[in-house]
Amino acid sequence: MKELQVITGCMFAGKSTELIRRLESHNENFLLVKPKLDNRDKGDIIVTHSGIKIKAKRVRDLSDIFDIIEGVKVLGIDEAQFFDNKILDDLMYLRKCNIKIILAGLEKDYLDNFFGSMKEIIKISDSVTRLKASCTRCTNSATHSYRKTKDSNNQFLIGDKNSYEALCAECYQKTIKIDGK
Ligand SMILES: [Zn+2]
Repeated sequence: MKELQVITGCMFAGKSTELIRRLESHNENFLLVKPKLDNRDKGDIIVTHSGIKIKAKRVRDLSDIFDIIEGVKVLGIDEAQFFDNKILDDLMYLRKCNIKIILAGLEKDYLDNFFGSMKEIIKISDSVTRLKASCTRCTNSATHSYRKTKDSNNQFLIGDKNSYEALCAECYQKTIKIDGK
C-alpha cells in the first residue's frame, strides 16, 4: 500500500499551499482534486489564501476519479473535510492501486469539533503535519478557526477572512466566552 500523508490544522494555516508545494516537488504525474461543494474558487482552479493558483478537478466523491487514475502516481486532495465518510473506503481503494496520497483538510470546525471524516482519516494515515496560523489577536500560534459571522450554524459555510479568523487556544476560549457559547 502506498502512503497517505495528511496536512491539517486550522484555517489560514497554509494547508493548501503546503499541499501544492509537495505535489509540485514530485516529478511524477499528479492529479489534484477537491470537493464539488467548495464554491470559494471559480471552476477547476484552487486559489490558496496566499494567492497561488493551480488546476484541480472538482469531484462529488473520490470514486469519481477511479476510471481516470491510470498513470497517476500521486493524488492530492484539498478541503478533504467536506467529503462524506465514503472517503475512507475510497482512500483505501486508491492506496491499493499504488497511488501515493497527499491530503489536506481542516481538522476541526469553528465549534472545535472534528470536521467530516478528518479524525478517521488521520487514524489511517502514515504521517500527519499540523500547520499553525498566526493568532489575529496576539500573534501566538493559532490552532482554532473562529467564526465571526453569527448568521449561520452551518458547518459547511465556506470561509474567507470576512467570516473566520485564526485564534490561539487562549484567545479562542476568551472569545467564545464573550459570545456565550
Ligand atoms: Zn491569541
